[in-house]
Amino acid sequence: MNLSYWEIKSWLTNVDFTIVGSGIVGLNCAIQLKSKFPKANILVLERGILPQGASTKNAGFACFGSLSEIIEDLKSHTEEEVLELVNKRINGLTLLRKTLGDKTIDYKQFGGFELFAKTNNDLYENCLSNREYINKLLNPIFKEDVFVLKNNSFNFKGIKEQYVFNPFEGQIDTGKMMDSLLTLAVSKGVKILNNISIESFLEDNNSVKINTNRFNFSSTNLIIATNGFASKIISEDVKPARAQVLITKPIKNLHVKGTFHLEKGYYYFRNIDNRILFGGGRNLDFKGEETMTFGQTELIQNQLEHLLKTVILPQTPFEIDMKWSGIMGIGNQKKAIVKQISTRVFCGIRLGGMGVAIGSLIGKEMADLVL
Ligand SMILES: Cc1cc2nc3c(=O)[nH]c(=O)nc-3n(C[C@H](O)[C@H](O)[C@H](O)COP(=O)(O)OP(=O)(O)OC[C@H]3O[C@@H](n4cnc5c(N)ncnc54)[C@H](O)[C@@H]3O)c2cc1C
Repeated sequence: MNLSYWEIKSWLTNVDFTIVGSGIVGLNCAIQLKSKFPKANILVLERGILPQGASTKNAGFACFGSLSEIIEDLKSHTEEEVLELVNKRINGLTLLRKTLGDKTIDYKQFGGFELFAKTNNDLYENCLSNREYINKLLNPIFKEDVFVLKNNSFNFKGIKEQYVFNPFEGQIDTGKMMDSLLTLAVSKGVKILNNISIESFLEDNNSVKINTNRFNFSSTNLIIATNGFASKIISEDVKPARAQVLITKPIKNLHVKGTFHLEKGYYYFRNIDNRILFGGGRNLDFKGEETMTFGQTELIQNQLEHLLKTVILPQTPFEIDMKWSGIMGIGNQKKAIVKQISTRVFCGIRLGGMGVAIGSLIGKEMADLVL
């Protein structure tokens, strides 16, 4: 199908910034660029009918790292690096809440809990003995203790009687966040085209020639925000990592409230609309889950259902309502990659499992990189 004169003139001519990917990062970058350059023509290309990566699939934890995760990170990062990671997550969450408003995204600060399996003494002891040290380390950011101990008031089974509670952790409604980000971007004059997949690009002195599955055109700048799919079009250290999730049907008098981390964060669950959303289990098959293909596996889904039945809701009848997956972008380092690849091409990728927290900031950092 040939595009019309009007279509080419109004959508694909004099494009100043083309952003690939309408996830949290791509949309925030577009919004920030529009504030910086109100007259610029900004085009977002998204291959899915809806954003089709992680931003509309995630668990909606507004978190910045559980105690065990921070202890683990200190094995491969310096204290300064870990502090910087936590600081970025906090600043990113502040920016997200400021951009959209707590009411819009249904931000609720119920706190976060880290649970420890009864059998996992080593992890539990290690966390208890490092708790004060980590609280001191984080003191410059929070000015008070982040990790305190609480009794198992939710009556989970098979876990240690005390869990680690973090009062600063919150949760959001992921769908509301993405819906309002899309609306905000469009209201500022950003153009978004769905069902368009970028296949390749070629930069010359004045522009970037962009080839998609539907048409080819030129843009003054190209910004890549495709996270776990980035290796399809650029060579950076980012691998796909699938994460599987399920949600129960509404449960009467559900007593569980908050965001919960289990087994170093490899499992996570929360309450939402009287349901339990539960995800994780990638550690059961790291290699198999290193994929860009959406889907569920028996191995992981069985384990999620088993933990739901035996640990999380041992005395409560429940039914599974839906199952889905999302694709994250991970690498050797937790730090996201925000960089200028060449004169006119930029990227902001590798958000790991923290994109709700840092996505807004990474979008802004990319906009600040340009010009
Ligand atoms: C199941 C799950 C649970 C999670 N839970 C949390 C959580 O609780 N808290 C948290 O902070 N983080 C969480 N995350 C991580 C978070 O969702 C991601 O870090 C974040 O959404 C990444 O945003 P992004 O914009 O970089 O990438 P994405 O949202 O993946 O956006 C990239 C977009 O690029 C598009 N795209 C890819 N290739 C092309 C192409 N060639 N042409 C056009 N478009 C293309 C994709 O369709 C996609 O929409 C979770 C992730 C998953 C999968």
